[in-house]
Amino acid sequence: MKTRPASAKKTITSGNSAPAHGVSAKTRKMLINGQWVAAASGETFPTIDPATGEVICRVPAGDKADIDAAVKAARAAFETGPWRRLTASERGRLLWKLADLLEENLEEFARLDSLDNGKPLAVARAADVPLAVDLFRYMAGWTTKIHGRTFPISVPYAPGAQFHAYTQREPVGVVGQIIPWNFPLLMAAWKLGPALATGCTVVLKPAEQTPLSALRLGELIQQAGFPDGVVNIVTGLGETAGAALAGHPGIDKIAFTGSTEVGKLIVRAAANDLKKVSLELGGKSPNIILDDADLETAIPGAASAIFFNHGQCCCAGSRLYVHKKHFNKVVEGVAAAAAKIKVGPGLAPDTEMGPLVSEEQLDRVMGFLRSGQSEGAKPLAGGGRHGDRGYFVEPTVLVDTKPGMKVLEEEIFGPVVCAVPFTDVDEVLAAANSNIYGLAAAVWTRDVSRAHQLASALRAGTVWVNCYNIFDAALPFGGYKQSGWGREMGEEALQLYTETKAVCVRL
Ligand code: NAP
Ligand code: MG
Repeated sequence: MKTRPASAKKTITSGNSAPAHGVSAKTRKMLINGQWVAAASGETFPTIDPATGEVICRVPAGDKADIDAAVKAARAAFETGPWRRLTASERGRLLWKLADLLEENLEEFARLDSLDNGKPLAVARAADVPLAVDLFRYMAGWTTKIHGRTFPISVPYAPGAQFHAYTQREPVGVVGQIIPWNFPLLMAAWKLGPALATGCTVVLKPAEQTPLSALRLGELIQQAGFPDGVVNIVTGLGETAGAALAGHPGIDKIAFTGSTEVGKLIVRAAANDLKKVSLELGGKSPNIILDDADLETAIPGAASAIFFNHGQCCCAGSRLYVHKKHFNKVVEGVAAAAAKIKVGPGLAPDTEMGPLVSEEQLDRVMGFLRSGQSEGAKPLAGGGRHGDRGYFVEPTVLVDTKPGMKVLEEEIFGPVVCAVPFTDVDEVLAAANSNIYGLAAAVWTRDVSRAHQLASALRAGTVWVNCYNIFDAALPFGGYKQSGWGREMGEEALQLYTETKAVCVRL
């Protein structure tokens, strides 16, 4: 399905000298049953600096045999290890300790994600790492509050009998988790937090493009004192390690974040033994600016909705609907903001937008830009590649798109927004809801009634009003329609990692 980018075949050229980015070029190991190990096959693959196309280091190419070993370790940790005997409070303290360790090492994690993914260091420092810290603390608080209920039951065919009936919430078991590259550490936190809070054990497969922060997190997980085998981290490719995990009969549940295309493969693989599945998939989120919006906030808000994280956000505001009264002013404002963005390597101090994560993503986004322009879409800003080294794309604003065009219908996952004028609210609501996705949406208005009416009518898992990209560990996040199954974060996430058992005792 996927071909390796040509640059991935390069070997390390930095010799013995320390690379300029300061991250060791040493080949990494992965974490299985508390041990740092190479792949059983001995194979490795490179992780690439997307700002240069050069290799940072190599990581183990985990495969079926390694997934097997990791699942066995997670099963043993779940069934017989000390993990199941910990009190809820002790589990919470481990999670809190992990959050503290992550916070102490914030700078290192920010640099790792900036280097591996390409995102600006300032963004990783201000958003990715603090949000991950907060998620672990939030989940630490839940461990002691996951409980069942009692029920006054009336059984017509047992007259006079008395019962004590109650439910208890139990961990779903061994969980496989497959995560993408757009927020490498944060996606690991979103997945691990609820699994560990509920007492599950985990086999985590990070994205091949960005394995470094998950591996470093594995060290902190050990340092915090989680028993061996509770968290296993297997690096590897999706088609091999990922597929082996999704189809493994020893897994009780699979949790996936990534493309809708692979999400469907996960469901098929999980169908064999009907393991539980949760999915956080793609989006093509509508961002609606009504005629009474405060343009002073809506224009920069619309720019940041699409350009944050280079548009590599599943909830990116990639369809910008603007009331025709303000259309020219808004698109000119967003285009001016795009033109001003300082594009450069993530680790450079003045960078506001880094490279896309990989050559594959660069080719994908460039394909969309060519297809849109060949069908008549016009770039008011950007429209092409930025420079000729690394995987940079110009922040792009497209106008003159029409329903049915790929750029307006499909997830681009790059810094490309399609701006479309509208005249009335019903028309824009129908357009906004006409997509196969339903992850997020936003409305910019001063009219409180219209804000709530639209929030209710939009078919999306998150609706922002007069803001965009606001996340909190307490707020559930996930999709309607083909954007996924279930929710990440919040109390909702805990439901996906527990089974409810009903117990009925005749007194
Ligand atoms: P992807 O293939 O869906 O990757 C997500 C994760 O799934 C990665 O860990 C990947 O491993 C793994 N995977 C791939 N094929 C698999 C399989 N057959 N079985 C099990 N796991 C598998 O996403 P991508 O190719 O990196 O990006 C393609 C597009 O997906 C993007 O352009 C974007 O539209 C969308 N995407 C969405 C999100 C989101 O947050 N919703 C995140 C990333 C990408 P590898 O790392 O080896 O591929
Ligand atoms: Mg990389």
